[in-house]
Amino acid sequence: MPIDLRSDTVTKPSESMRQAMARAAVGDDVFGEDPTVRQLEDRLADLFGHEAGLFCPSGTMTNQIAINVHTRPGDEIICDKDSHIYKYEGGGIMANSGCSVKFVTGDRGRFSVADIEAALNPPADPHMPLSRLVSVENTFNRGGGSVWDMEQIKAIQTFCGEKSLGLHLDGARIFNALVATGVDAKTMGSCFDSVSICLSKGLGAPVGSVLVGSKDFIAHAVRVRKRFGGGMRQVGILAAAGLFALDNHIDLLAIDHARASKIAAALPELPYVASVIPVETNIVVFKVNHAHTVSDLVKKLDKSGVRAIPFGADMIRLVTHLGLNEHDIDETIRALRAIA
Ligand SMILES: *Cc1c(COP(=O)(O)O)cnc(C)c1O
Repeated sequence: MPIDLRSDTVTKPSESMRQAMARAAVGDDVFGEDPTVRQLEDRLADLFGHEAGLFCPSGTMTNQIAINVHTRPGDEIICDKDSHIYKYEGGGIMANSGCSVKFVTGDRGRFSVADIEAALNPPADPHMPLSRLVSVENTFNRGGGSVWDMEQIKAIQTFCGEKSLGLHLDGARIFNALVATGVDAKTMGSCFDSVSICLSKGLGAPVGSVLVGSKDFIAHAVRVRKRFGGGMRQVGILAAAGLFALDNHIDLLAIDHARASKIAAALPELPYVASVIPVETNIVVFKVNHAHTVSDLVKKLDKSGVRAIPFGADMIRLVTHLGLNEHDIDETIRALRAIA
């Protein structure tokens, strides 16, 4: 079996997670009658300081629903240029919600009030799209799992309040950020009007994301989910995996972080590594020397039993997750050295 470090989405549900899924009480969730789905939605809403939650098939859908609820066609969204909502969601901002995007260039995804201020269109000028929503991604995938500073988020929250801008959190890996900083979920969640939380990344559930927000926001989101084709029936079976992950897998993220740091520490001495992005959570990204190509190195690693993913033209990404053990990490380091 190869050691798969392509993503933290490659994990498979454990026997005990499968048992929790098999035992789940279910009902027709389109009728709002699945007790396990409700339990998961309520639990995450409460945890992140919001009134209501909505279970969806993917983080792309929770993000895209949130964008649709926050905006009207013709509005503009402010986000980092490498944001998942723009780069990896199939053009959904434009196709689903008819909005344009104004980029800011953050420090590995983390931008400031001044950056937003510079990107903001004057609301009284009818020539320009109406700036409506700011989206923050924490942790920031393209930044190598970089973590936002709480004070910076609070400053953005205050600014968005003053300017009547919506504020969304793409929290696909929000638990990684919380575990890395010790910030509690309520402090983080209550800074935002809406939060998207993935259960299928580091938490290790097979599927599912939850969007949290106010009662009104989620009532509107239910309609948009239906429109996007995301209404599901007896999905308590899937929600049970999410509940199991919340009970058992949050603390394990600290292990993923330590293992990512261990891999990163072995990289600088390798001849094909030009630089390593500082590791803050479970994502290791390194830049490849000009003398080597990404595809060649990924192929060599693959032959040595380690799967990695090309990350743009000159970078490679390795992600730790709960499907790995300590031996896998040692073997990964051995393979990284062996291909040098
Ligand atoms: C994975 C991810 C998502 C959601 O992806 P899905 O595969 O649709 O669940 C959203 N944002 C970020 C930053 C992600 O890494």
